[in-house]
Amino acid sequence: MEAAQPDTSTSRTTFLPFSPPSITEQEIEAVVDTLRSSWITTGPKTKAFEQEFAQYIGAKGALALNSCTAGLHVALATLDIGPGDEVITTPMTFCSSVNVIEHVGATPILADICADTLCIDPAQVEGKITPRTKAILPVHYAGHPVDMDPLLEMARKHKLAIIEDAAHAIPASYKGRMVGTMGDFASFSFYATKNMTTAEGGMLTGSPEQLERARMISLHGMNRDAWKRYTAEGSWYYEVVTPGFKYNMTDLQAAIGLVQLQRLVEMQQRRHEVVDQYNLAFSQIDALQIPVERPEVESAWHLYVLRLNLDRLKINRAQFIEEMKARQIGTSVHFIPIHLHPFYRDKYDLKPDDFPVAQAQYERVVSLPLHPGLTKDDVADVIAAVTDICEVYQC
Ligand SMILES: *Cc1c(COP(=O)(O)O)cnc(C)c1O
Repeated sequence: MEAAQPDTSTSRTTFLPFSPPSITEQEIEAVVDTLRSSWITTGPKTKAFEQEFAQYIGAKGALALNSCTAGLHVALATLDIGPGDEVITTPMTFCSSVNVIEHVGATPILADICADTLCIDPAQVEGKITPRTKAILPVHYAGHPVDMDPLLEMARKHKLAIIEDAAHAIPASYKGRMVGTMGDFASFSFYATKNMTTAEGGMLTGSPEQLERARMISLHGMNRDAWKRYTAEGSWYYEVVTPGFKYNMTDLQAAIGLVQLQRLVEMQQRRHEVVDQYNLAFSQIDALQIPVERPEVESAWHLYVLRLNLDRLKINRAQFIEEMKARQIGTSVHFIPIHLHPFYRDKYDLKPDDFPVAQAQYERVVSLPLHPGLTKDDVADVIAAVTDICEVYQC
């Protein structure tokens, strides 16, 4: 094969970023108002954000934190998962889903994924359950809900906890049930690239009893509503009952979150329109496979993950990304699977062949720009770039 130089001809004069946040004057004013209120860290806005988010999802309770990673870590700690315990999760995820299992001293056990949704395969999970298994940590990849019923059944049968990594899944539903209401805990992300943002932030949903303990663990292990201790109703006295973390959300973040939650319906609507346009265009092209949405779910469409039919192309995924960049379009890859990262590969002697589906799919995935700020012209440019590359390099 000839070493192809990226084609630099392009209709765009400016680079289209992969996933910029959608921030309006409303969020800016909300932050400024909070700064002027003199209560800038965890306080009334955080409380309101927790309540509105729980109500939106239909969750029994919610705990606002400074990241989704913090939520996953706190969930594991709240469930007393630690050394000697195993937690089953997917290789097709961001590293933090697995790092937190290491943080509590437990052992991550990876189970391969379904080829259609790229979510953890319940049949593979079943085979990984041992007497040491304490929890399953499914990831709603790209916003597509995991097949939860078989996992919930296994959890009931083997007395396992379910901690959902819902970083991509605001809002998503499975058989009419919202993500964030099915497991023991679900952790959502408000990182800058996610469906709604607080710059950095996360929300843990679960039962009020479990969240009460999670709240204590998330704020130094102090046994009172510690954030109130500088208010008139607060008290100077507290006791530390466990060495907790410093994971609280600030009111500056919550102020952004409250506005983003109001704007979510409108932002999701734009995502859906873009997905429909991409699907229509790319389903016509032999070299491409469009994302799957199973009939029983509503995806949050956090990501638009296109798959390349590599046997129909003269270029690989890395070259495809270079060609997109040459046409001024930002893309990304979700994810470099866990078994390829040196720490996990070496510590657990993981081989690509251990996860044949994740490995094969990883080599062909590319995420296209999908965010509410995409204009009609932006979408047309993405479609034109992908179509052009496929025409030039088809075989
Ligand atoms: C973004 C992401 C996280 C981490 O979210 P933070 O809020 O940045 O901690 C966790 N899991 C997945 C799958 C993610 O994409």
